[in-house]
Amino acid sequence: MRQHIEIPRSDDATALRKAANEHLFVGMSSRAQLEQEGGPLVLTGSQGIYVKDIDGREYIDGISGMYFRNIGHGREEVARAVYEQLSNVSMNVYASATPPTIQLAAKLAQMAPGDLNRTFFVQGGSEANETSLKMAQAYHMRRGDTGRYKVISRRGSYHGNTYGTIWLGGHPSFPRTDYQPVPPNVVHVPQPYFYQCEFGSATPAECAEKSANAVEEAILFHGPESVSAFIGEPVSQPYGMIVPPDGYWQRIREICDKYGVLLIFDEVITGFGRLGTWFGADFVGVTPDIISFAKGVTSGYFPVGGSIASEEVADVFTETPFSHMFTYSSHPAGAAAALANLEVVESENLVENARVRGEQLERRLLDMKEMHPIVGDVRGAGLLRSIEFVKDRETKERFDASMKVSDSLTKGMIDRGLWIRSYAFHIPIAPPLIVTADEIDQIADKIDGALTDTEKGLGIV
Ligand code: PLP
Repeated sequence: MRQHIEIPRSDDATALRKAANEHLFVGMSSRAQLEQEGGPLVLTGSQGIYVKDIDGREYIDGISGMYFRNIGHGREEVARAVYEQLSNVSMNVYASATPPTIQLAAKLAQMAPGDLNRTFFVQGGSEANETSLKMAQAYHMRRGDTGRYKVISRRGSYHGNTYGTIWLGGHPSFPRTDYQPVPPNVVHVPQPYFYQCEFGSATPAECAEKSANAVEEAILFHGPESVSAFIGEPVSQPYGMIVPPDGYWQRIREICDKYGVLLIFDEVITGFGRLGTWFGADFVGVTPDIISFAKGVTSGYFPVGGSIASEEVADVFTETPFSHMFTYSSHPAGAAAALANLEVVESENLVENARVRGEQLERRLLDMKEMHPIVGDVRGAGLLRSIEFVKDRETKERFDASMKVSDSLTKGMIDRGLWIRSYAFHIPIAPPLIVTADEIDQIADKIDGALTDTEKGLGIV
């Protein structure tokens, strides 16, 4: 017999929140936390850089959903492209392709750096990284390098939440204690995070050199014949938008080439304009062997991700197929969404807007650093920015988690109508790439206000 469960009406805020607490897992929020907060934010409208909740409150979407809403909310041209595709061919059949998917693959080959020419499509970032890792291992296997199965990743990176990706990197707000043991193929090395460099480096160049040397040492320690790939985000989000010091990626490329290790760029956040360049690879001036992408390719209007392989990697799958697939790979509606989305990015010059508005935001953040003693560092590139807050600027000591500083900052921003959730020791800031100069000032004013409230609460000012 079925349980008697009421389906809430879509305009009944109280019933929706109650049903959410009872029946829905909301990402990275516990039921106790949601009950305390009165339930999740229930969105019923969105336009441009704004989202509106069921009670009519409006917020600026300060992190583009989760770093994906690059062209902003409510873009009818993308919705229409999805509708038209679904009304025509709603999905391919086994071992077939559709025109938009082929067009998107060609478009990506046109845009990607170097000879990265062939794409395997999936549904999101974790699957893209799974795909890239499998591609890398299969590449070695088919060349007779059958022992290469280890993957080197950096502490403080994030590459997804499937079993195959969760232990790569190490995100400060994603505890992995429930998911033991650490897979035997995962090797961790330091993040080139100059502000809190693991090596205590005196200069960015020293931090870059020591962090890159640690990769070579790890390869030698494990044996080059056992290492398949190095994976990293060109600019890494979890520790607060770590832009590696100059020369780091060039040195990593050299090391990978020296030992026959493939270089995978996880461009799930950095791809498609966020840094003020089309790809993070363009931003750092290094071409990887494989790019994983997702988020910005459709701005989240349809779940699409993928892996773009260089000619050399793709060639090993010429005679026998890449033994890998998902039911919904190459979804034509996803490809239609991506083509319409990229058309907006190009026609509205959003990559350049990300660069210019990013510089404006950086100036405002640097002003905040002058004014607020808890601001230890501001960093990032394009419209991927961060404030790292510290208890003591001299020693860079962080606040104890029990002081709930990130909760106070989050409340200060949300109360002012800016939807950004601070976590661990930083405030992430990544508005849609359509943001205007006036909106950047509004975002900055709200963050400034939240910092003032928090400092007052701490008895600092
Ligand atoms: N890689 C990076 C750099 C990400 O930021 C994310 C998600 O935030 C992922 C991979 C995982 O993507 P998804 O959540 O679509 O699986």
